Amino acid sequence: MTDLRKYPPHEQWHDWTELDARAWPDRVERHYTLVPTTCFNCEAACGLVAYVDDESGRITKFEGNPEHPASRGRNCAKGPATLNQVHDPERILHPLRRVGERGGGQWERVSWDQALDDIGSRIRTALLEGRHDEIMYHVGRPGEDGYAERVLKAWGVDGHNSHTNICSSNARIGYQSWMGHDRPSSDFANADVIFLISSHLEAGHYFNPHAQRIIEAQQRGATVICVDPRLSNTGSKADHWLPAWPGTEAFLLLAIARQLLLDGTWERDFVRRWVNWETFLAEAHPELPQTFESLEPALLADYAEYTPERAEHVTGIAADTIRQIAAIIGAHPTRFASHTWRAAGAGHLGGWQVARCLFFLNVLTGSVATKGGTSGNGWNKFSPEQPKGAPPLTRWNELSWPREYPLAYHELSILLPHFLNEGRGRLDTYFSRVYNPIWTNPDGFSWLEALRDPDKVGCHVALTPTWSETAWFADYVLPMGVASERHDLASFETHAGRWIGFRQPVMRRYAELHGASLGPETRSHEYNPGEVWEENEFWIDLSWRIDPDGALGIRRWFESDERPGEPITVDEYYGKIFADSVPGLPEAAAAAGQSPLEYMRDRAAFAVPTDPYTPYERTVDDAALEGCARDAGGVFRKPGTIGTFDGSDEAFASTSLAKLGDGSPGVEVDGVVREGFPTPSRKLELFSTTLRDWGWPEYATPTWIPSHVHWEDLDLDGDERILLPTFRIPTLIHTRSANSKWLNEISHRHPLWIHPRDAEALGIDENGLVRITTRIGHFVIQAWRTEGIRPGVVAASHHMGRWRMEDGTARSWATGRAEIDHDGSTWRLQRTGGMEAYESADPDTGRIWWNDTGVHQNLTFAVQPDPISGMQCWHQRVRVGPAVEGDRYGDVVVDTAKSREAYVDWLSKTRPAPGPHGLRRPLWYARPLKPTIDAYRL
Ligand code: SF4
Repeated sequence: MTDLRKYPPHEQWHDWTELDARAWPDRVERHYTLVPTTCFNCEAACGLVAYVDDESGRITKFEGNPEHPASRGRNCAKGPATLNQVHDPERILHPLRRVGERGGGQWERVSWDQALDDIGSRIRTALLEGRHDEIMYHVGRPGEDGYAERVLKAWGVDGHNSHTNICSSNARIGYQSWMGHDRPSSDFANADVIFLISSHLEAGHYFNPHAQRIIEAQQRGATVICVDPRLSNTGSKADHWLPAWPGTEAFLLLAIARQLLLDGTWERDFVRRWVNWETFLAEAHPELPQTFESLEPALLADYAEYTPERAEHVTGIAADTIRQIAAIIGAHPTRFASHTWRAAGAGHLGGWQVARCLFFLNVLTGSVATKGGTSGNGWNKFSPEQPKGAPPLTRWNELSWPREYPLAYHELSILLPHFLNEGRGRLDTYFSRVYNPIWTNPDGFSWLEALRDPDKVGCHVALTPTWSETAWFADYVLPMGVASERHDLASFETHAGRWIGFRQPVMRRYAELHGASLGPETRSHEYNPGEVWEENEFWIDLSWRIDPDGALGIRRWFESDERPGEPITVDEYYGKIFADSVPGLPEAAAAAGQSPLEYMRDRAAFAVPTDPYTPYERTVDDAALEGCARDAGGVFRKPGTIGTFDGSDEAFASTSLAKLGDGSPGVEVDGVVREGFPTPSRKLELFSTTLRDWGWPEYATPTWIPSHVHWEDLDLDGDERILLPTFRIPTLIHTRSANSKWLNEISHRHPLWIHPRDAEALGIDENGLVRITTRIGHFVIQAWRTEGIRPGVVAASHHMGRWRMEDGTARSWATGRAEIDHDGSTWRLQRTGGMEAYESADPDTGRIWWNDTGVHQNLTFAVQPDPISGMQCWHQRVRVGPAVEGDRYGDVVVDTAKSREAYVDWLSKTRPAPGPHGLRRPLWYARPLKPTIDAYRL
């Protein structure tokens, strides 16, 4: 122990010795077993290594896992803070069942067996009575790839619901309409120009893996450009901060695109080969010669209004700056890495065009899946084949997939209370999983009304690692593990490469390494704190209770192949995936003298070999083209695939749905058949025939759609402003971080960002109380006057404002005591206390020195789903003024009758299905649990 090391060498992980920092200055050696897992505190799934003290048998810290290809040994603050979540004194340790009325706060402890029997028998009865659509699994942070979908498929239930339309629906459809992949995969590490519409360096999607690569690129000379009305940490670190008016980002991007065309700094040959310009010309400019030479004048004509000067007026960014940015981008062909995910895309009506217009710059600069460019997620995310997969569903659940939103990405999750209220259906058994819709979603009081009503929701089962506002209104609260207490697989498009990560219950693995014999009857809750479990084993055992004798045809998907007639184990399930479905892993394991499962338990991550660049250029061999017909666009179509679907009964009977795209093998480009993109044209779609065919021809090309909060429509001379309620705090993560003392000691203020000019005009003092009035109610918050925000815009993070109904349980480190009452449809939430010190098994609860727990602003936001993507358009048109007499910090008042008016109003903006051939949704669009083609028939 004389040399300094970054990380303990892997070969010493099972027997690691280091000095005890707490014993300093004495040199006391401590012995550890290091067990790797992956973080569960955001979507990035970075590697973690748990240090288990061999003397106490307790996890004493989490550090980075250098074996993880994405995080490379590094974490943000939330990774190591997993330790707090493990040892939190008020975490839920045992299954609980409601006693008394819902929301009354009375619980009884039950065994896992009791919970499984009761819930299993409910679901069994519903299935036997044909009430499949009354079973719903609603997930917030999935943290895993595909296991829950496997379960629902096996049950024959189209019951997947997600948090996607409060997060990323707009970005998804923006990207998908270009390239068929619904997420970007940016190669920041090799980029020359990095363009972010987000606060990536502190909180962006795949925060830590992305941030470390962005900084490395900047250190070697890359230019970082950040568009954000707020001077985020990213804005302050960027070479160019562009605080455009919220909702004008697409205008700004199109002005840059026009400038690239004018300057001649666009990659003509790439565009000629890989963009469906022929369709664009035929549809939008039939008057021009149908040759590539017509493209530039056609585009300049279409985007004529997007001059730098006009853009300066609309966006607030100087014309010369726009020209300068265009010059920087144009000077670096093929090395332009861009990214947007939530941010502007999640804020606005038509926000999906932000991603569409941003990727336009990638297309024009030829920076598509190039070294230093932006790729499609499907090329870098690795999804192994799952064993024991049931056939596709034959059902379509309109509670999640309503006909008004045929193009939505994905479920219309936020509208569920309104659908239940309208009598579109009811729920017999509703699982919320790592999801807190009362707090996280807009219009939370409508959720509360629905979840309290047994006629709408028969039984609510909250699968959760922590207490939450929503769990409080559940019938069962079932404790599920944090990062070190569960099995999951995850893979994400964090960089130009592919990987798979394996989350595992650390203490179960520790026991195994120290000689415990884990038989098929072992369950991970035997090794976790209390009886904390994991979903995967829970789903296996629950499925057996639903179908104990196998007569429903469900049990067989959860049976062991090795021990017929017995439940499959997680070891068997994951062992089979690692042995059969991860290229290169069996060989790497053999080289290490291990089985693939043992290899992954030992490292928890594996870099899957790949060639990440320009996959669309791969040539298609003749065998794959056999039986195909070539269409006028050069696409080779195989009979029985989506591309040849004509709506006939025979086609309904014989067409198979592709997982991604339309199932065509490739497209001819300059005489060679290449794989291309998973779009109907197999090319990048400048003109989307899908948007045209499904009722939105005016948005078939990249376009700016004025936002519902467009500044020119506001009374800025009066008290109207734009509220940005969406930004993350780097050290917090929605509901889960409330159980971390370190994170809450760092971040526990919830100021309203307001420019001094606005504050002066509106009479708002520093730290003064401010009343923000939305369409359905108001809330009261405290002001922070700062020049770090564009005048006309105010902002508050969505990570604060947690509340609880009582002390003693459900306290955590971040919730304020609150009271709720209502008079008819008018609801009122008032804080009755902030955070305060208390005695517990953890002496640190007695040292809590902060009081603020923030304001639950989301309660006051109406549902505002974009009519195309279904995305909640989060930004709010609000009136801002000093608090009035009687207002107290944290007050929230909402009228749910107004919520319903807003719902009806936004619903009226839609253009419902059916689309072509009487379909509910384009067949080539992605969808969780893609059902059989017959289910698409309306
Ligand atoms: S970025 Fe932070 S919270 Fe997210 S997975 Fe990585 S370490 Fe965990």
